Amino acid sequence: MGMTYIPSTLSEALQLRAEKHARPLAGGSDLMVQSKRGIGLAPEFSFDVMIITGLEELKGIRRLDDGSVEIGALSTPAEIAASEIVPWHVREAASGMGAIALRNSATIGGNIGNASPKGDLPQPLILLDASVVLVSRHGERIMLLDDFILGSKKTALSDDEIVRSVVIPPHDFSYLFYRKIGMRKANAISKLSLSAAAVVKDGEILDFRAASGAAGPKVIRSKEAENLIKGHRTDEIPSIMEEFLNAWDGAISPHAMPLYRRNTTRRMLSYFLTAINSGAEEGIITEEV
Ligand SMILES: Cc1cc2nc3c(=O)[nH]c(=O)nc-3n(C[C@H](O)[C@H](O)[C@H](O)COP(=O)(O)OP(=O)(O)OC[C@H]3O[C@@H](n4cnc5c(N)ncnc54)[C@H](O)[C@@H]3O)c2cc1C
Repeated sequence: MGMTYIPSTLSEALQLRAEKHARPLAGGSDLMVQSKRGIGLAPEFSFDVMIITGLEELKGIRRLDDGSVEIGALSTPAEIAASEIVPWHVREAASGMGAIALRNSATIGGNIGNASPKGDLPQPLILLDASVVLVSRHGERIMLLDDFILGSKKTALSDDEIVRSVVIPPHDFSYLFYRKIGMRKANAISKLSLSAAAVVKDGEILDFRAASGAAGPKVIRSKEAENLIKGHRTDEIPSIMEEFLNAWDGAISPHAMPLYRRNTTRRMLSYFLTAINSGAEEGIITEEV
């Protein structure tokens, strides 16, 4: 059985991380479940853990000078969903995570650290080109979240590092789309999710991006597919739609129920693009279900 530490400052935590490689335990909603022993028994860890919930340095949501938004690793889905400075896609994903108790105890650092392809927050964060700020006793390194998450349950976190925060660069999208499909409305792990966004000016698509969750070992973006849409005029969408949908289909790799996941993803992307093509009012595109 491993030791449990409770550091009260980040520098204390980084020392424990460097010397004992103790695993951070934030909300515990993944780590405790993975280490559960049975009804009535407290979870037991076979490795050293450190409870990081008291670290002030990992808390808070703030706007940076360049307009980016920095979300501290200990921020809960409830705090993220309630923050007006957090971009819409991320707030939307946070507000649909689990039930209310989980939304008040889970953390963004844990959702990223767990790196499940079904995790709700990496999907919109990768859409928005978010970065993670990693800290160790040697300083700080910043990398794109898309590079940090290596695959299902695999990250580039070193055994002396802690995720301090997530930074989302500023965007000004004309059209936005987000959809999580779960077994039921609340408290459901995502079966499939998609977010998309576009910048349209004078009928020209200046930016187009999409991100699929639970459709492969990690969140999927395809620059190749996005580039098929970018730079075109909105009235050209019907003529490039099929090529784009096929390219997206080639990029995703759903392991279970692949036909369902592929067809549903195609339908959502085509719904979003059709709305842009038909001159829908700018803003959030909501699919009727
Ligand atoms: C009933 C239930 C419902 C759920 N529903 C959803 C859902 O709808 N959507 C969803 O996405 N997830 C869901 N989950 C999974 C889980 O709640 C989330 O992944 C959550 O965000 C994990 O956060 P945590 O703080 O509890 O993580 P923890 O369990 O504390 O940690 C998870 C992992 O991240 C690491 N970690 C945590 N913080 C840091 C840090 N700052 N730096 C480095 N590593 C860190 C830990 O070492 C561990 O490996 C659900 C879980 C349960 C039990």
